[in-house]
Amino acid sequence: ELNVANTVKWMTLANEKIQENKTYLTELDQAIGDGDHGINMARGFQEVEAKITATDYDNVSDLLKDVSMTLLSKVGGAAGPLYGTAFLKLSMAVKGSETLDFPKFKSGLAEALAGIKQRGKAEKGEKTLVDVWEPLVDYLNGQNSFNAAGFESVAKEAMEATKDLEAKKGRAAYLRERSIGHLDPGSVSSFYIFSSLAEVLK
Ligand code: ADP
Ligand code: MG
Ligand code: MG
Repeated sequence: ELNVANTVKWMTLANEKIQENKTYLTELDQAIGDGDHGINMARGFQEVEAKITATDYDNVSDLLKDVSMTLLSKVGGAAGPLYGTAFLKLSMAVKGSETLDFPKFKSGLAEALAGIKQRGKAEKGEKTLVDVWEPLVDYLNGQNSFNAAGFESVAKEAMEATKDLEAKKGRAAYLRERSIGHLDPGSVSSFYIFSSLAEVLK
């Protein structure tokens, strides 16, 4: 289950992975976007780390709300509002919860996905971060407890599968079929976030 301490750890790990891969994420976005995804995410997660390590929380919902607000105001671009919405929906879905057990996490993640899809007007298959979030929500629906290895491998495969897709949403959509053959930057950053979660919960 997710408590305050391991949710902080989740964000700390995600921040580390994003900082380490800042250049890589930016290169991916240079290929099919405007080349700022690594910069945007590194700036946002740096601020998340600073905010949550300087604050005392007595429940996970409040912590996730601060994550959301920080991403919303600091990431910018298309990804900022999308990640901001995702963490806000997750926070709202678990409002008042001191800790998140598996059923709560599962329904919270489904709400977060719904928020992303609504905000981005995106569906699965359009080469956006929805292509990582949706397979994970589908996978969790068939599970009764958290399987870290399974969760991470679904996230990884889903991220890799974005390479063969043609972008229909976001800047990459301007490239039409020329977007094929490149990973979606937002799906890669989502993979870092979810592989960090798997690491914390294993
Ligand atoms: P920008 O494209 O505004 O520079 P970023 O580079 O930070 O923003 O983020 C780009 C990522 O955002 C894409 O790789 C994709 O995963 C995601 N994205 C863009 N538009 C949408 C959308 N309409 N719905 C869902 N995700 C989107
Ligand atoms: Mg960009
Ligand atoms: Mg941009």
